[in-house]
Amino acid sequence: MIAPGGTIGIIGGGQLGRMLALAAAPLGYRVHVFDPHERPCAADVAADFTSAAFDDVAALERFAASCDVVTYEFENLPVGPLATIADKLRPGTASLAIAQDRCAEKAFVEEAGGRPAKWRAIDGPEDIAAAVEALGLPLVLKTRRDGYDGKGQAWLRTEADIAGAWDTLGQRPLVAEQAIRFDAEFSVVVARGADGALAFFDSTRNVHVDGILHRCELPAGDLIEKQVGEARRQAGAIAERLGHVGVLTVEFFACADGPLVNEIAPRVHNSGHWTIEGAATSQFAQHIRAITGLPLGSTALRSQEVTMDNLIGDEIHRWPELAADRQAALHLYGKGAARRGRKMGHVTRLG
Ligand code: ATP
Ligand code: MG
Repeated sequence: MIAPGGTIGIIGGGQLGRMLALAAAPLGYRVHVFDPHERPCAADVAADFTSAAFDDVAALERFAASCDVVTYEFENLPVGPLATIADKLRPGTASLAIAQDRCAEKAFVEEAGGRPAKWRAIDGPEDIAAAVEALGLPLVLKTRRDGYDGKGQAWLRTEADIAGAWDTLGQRPLVAEQAIRFDAEFSVVVARGADGALAFFDSTRNVHVDGILHRCELPAGDLIEKQVGEARRQAGAIAERLGHVGVLTVEFFACADGPLVNEIAPRVHNSGHWTIEGAATSQFAQHIRAITGLPLGSTALRSQEVTMDNLIGDEIHRWPELAADRQAALHLYGKGAARRGRKMGHVTRLG
């Protein structure tokens, strides 16, 4: 166990790192952020900050030497350079390696007894027509690596879309996925402790617009509630098989015939932001507890009704009105320029 007073390293300095650092403070931990940018938003709330490339092994070693445990808030990290600090890393590199490659992830989900959408690996342009043949249209092509917030994706709706797709997506290895006609989306946010204990948060209904999460709501509705038991079984099996320590998120499509796994994030997740106000322990505090070896906290709801709305791009300019709204818990990430599609903050309402 790492006792309060110890130092937690966080690789990645975005809003997830920022909220992890904010959750570490009440438990008495210090935080050291590692990120290649000059002034990432997590560094503003951390005791120490190292600005270095994710593959700078010497900088990673110095950073890890200053920390009692190291975690990450971002899964698109090169795994090789982390080998030298693997003994301090929670969750470990297995979770990272699987979750950063969509094909490895889907194969892993299947081995763990989960069900992804029907898929095919695409290694060259000629594989796309074969995938269309096997999966039918429409289908979605996603880059195997580095995609987030719907980036690196292209939908094929007609045969005419096949020809340009390989070039549009940058001539990179892809995965082709059958289009899922889902009734709703939800995720299972689960923490696995160092002792193997599992603690699940309630599953919200997740509403995406243009591939980006816009809103989470509780109650999630009958359809999702009926599928959460099976989804938790799958998410728990995935966490166990990975030997994961920390929070893990599995995104699901709620379909007529049960839950389908969309993807895994080996970390705290946007669909768990509501837990800061809505649950007895937030996903961020829970992750800090898991990686330091503290007992996991209660995930009991503080309200049966919760909504979380993301503030994306220009929506951040609504802050004065939201700051004046007594029902709204406003979270601003301090990220500077409100670029289109950039997650700038969120607002949670209970009851
Ligand atoms: P994020 O970083 O937000 O998780 P991402 O870039 O990893 O996003 P996905 O989760 O793969 O992207 O997809 C984003 C959204 O696009 C999904 O939540 C869903 O709404 C839609 N989508 C993705 N894959 C499919 C599919 N096979 N069938 C139907 N809709 C899909
Ligand atoms: Mg997703």
